[in-house]
Amino acid sequence: MNKQVFNFCSGPAVLPEAVLTEAQQALVNWQDSGTSILSISHRSEAFLAMAAEMERDFRELLNIPQSYKILLLPGGATLQFALVPLNLFSDRRRAAYVDTGHWSKRAIEEAKKYGDIQVIAKGYEAALETDWRIPADVDYLHCTPNETIDGVEFTKIPKSPVPIVADMSSTILSRPINVTEFNMIYAGAQKNIGPSGLVIAIIHEALLKEALPNTPTLLQYKVQSDYQSLYNTPSTFAWYITAQVLQWLKRQGGLAAMAVHNQTKAAKLYAEIDKTGFYYNPVPKACRSWMNVPFRLQNHQLEPVFLQAAEAAGLINLQGHRSVGGLRASLYNAMPMAGVEALLRFMQDFEKRNG
Ligand SMILES: *Cc1c(COP(=O)(O)O)cnc(C)c1O
Repeated sequence: MNKQVFNFCSGPAVLPEAVLTEAQQALVNWQDSGTSILSISHRSEAFLAMAAEMERDFRELLNIPQSYKILLLPGGATLQFALVPLNLFSDRRRAAYVDTGHWSKRAIEEAKKYGDIQVIAKGYEAALETDWRIPADVDYLHCTPNETIDGVEFTKIPKSPVPIVADMSSTILSRPINVTEFNMIYAGAQKNIGPSGLVIAIIHEALLKEALPNTPTLLQYKVQSDYQSLYNTPSTFAWYITAQVLQWLKRQGGLAAMAVHNQTKAAKLYAEIDKTGFYYNPVPKACRSWMNVPFRLQNHQLEPVFLQAAEAAGLINLQGHRSVGGLRASLYNAMPMAGVEALLRFMQDFEKRNG
């Protein structure tokens, strides 16, 4: 018997057990083909059928209009920090960025290599009031609706005179969204979709044009769109797992059900953190993330003790990001309510023993 473990990792994150169990079988014999999913040609009829179904499921779950293309790209979300300017810049090479935390900053630093970047809003304020002043003379606006490390989130997307690009790596599929508020959304798969190394991009066809000169062919949105993301051999296993996760999501009742599930988990955890002052979370309540809940102990010196005891209790990967320290619980779709309840019981007990 495996002992019961709840994995609060920020990414690669926990995946639904049903998906993993099925994947085990697919590794040996996929769809009764007599061969492993790892050894199926990406040009085979069966694989292409799976890919088509994956796209249909993704469109259905997020209600994505046909005017948006769905691309599956390599390199993680980090590569998009370069590909967005390389593919979306016009000759003027200018963009506006909103900086709500760690990943925003990474995106800004990378984009600066290719052009003129204006940061138009910063910090908690930028998340609390999203009526940013967006200049009209830039090629796009980039924002990060959920900051995975800082635990900061915003959901109100302003009207914009220029295309809006959003890094939704850690919040995609956590609830219904209005895709048409954005011109492009991208998300690294390892938070709320599937395995690491894969990115899903939802991009309005009006943005598909020539990339800047010398952009590698594989990394051009227009080329990948023309080739249905099959310009080269993609990460076929990551595609397979993604397809399975999307089906699992549909069986769970889709994104409306996920929204209730996720909001409830987050509310329970924040209530516990706020209860006595033994724990705390520094983020203003109106922009606290549903997905990533960073928290600290008033007595920082107890944090290593907390982590060690939590791990012994089967609650793993609760350490904060190495850049900020402290603690963090990531509560993606596949984290069951039982995991959050186990964490709450542990926190209450730890406080009793050390408070
Ligand atoms: C994890 C994460 C990234 C980086 O993803 P990689 O796949 O490791 O490149 C970028 N942005 C956000 C919001 C993230 O959560």
